[in-house]
Amino acid sequence: MPGSKTEHQHVAASDIAHHVATKLAEIGQRFTSGRRAIVESLSHAQRPLSIPEILEHTTGLAQSSAYRNLTVLENAGVVVRVITTDEWARFELSEDITGHHHHMVCSVCGSVDDVRIPDGIEEALDAALERVAAKSGFKMAHHRLDVVGVCRACR
Ligand SMILES: [Zn+2]
Ligand SMILES: [Zn+2]
Ligand SMILES: [Zn+2]
Repeated sequence: MPGSKTEHQHVAASDIAHHVATKLAEIGQRFTSGRRAIVESLSHAQRPLSIPEILEHTTGLAQSSAYRNLTVLENAGVVVRVITTDEWARFELSEDITGHHHHMVCSVCGSVDDVRIPDGIEEALDAALERVAAKSGFKMAHHRLDVVGVCRACR
């Protein structure tokens, strides 16, 4: 990830297409209409989407081509796969586009929601994690943390 661990800079909505096209070009790929449709559906969601959810928001995209296009977007570093508690992979735009955030994962239904933590708490987390890492001679670059529990619907 570019920038420091406390960097919350992200790509403006109007610049996402340009950013994605540039990253695809770096690996010799084009920003096709299918990839555009996927990036648009991901950029409008406030949480990671499963392939069936992506297909709901994109017309005329076959499941097999959605999967292939997601793999290309992952290879270009603009889409990341989010690990959850059920069998469905979920996908979202990378943090250099959306900004740093965390996930609340439901251990009953597997739903995932984005959650943004106030800057002061992020800084305290970084400081605490850096101390823990340093004790093992580990140089921390950034952190990933999930909040796992039971969502509103499942309670
Ligand atoms: Zn749930
Ligand atoms: Zn997210
Ligand atoms: Zn964080």
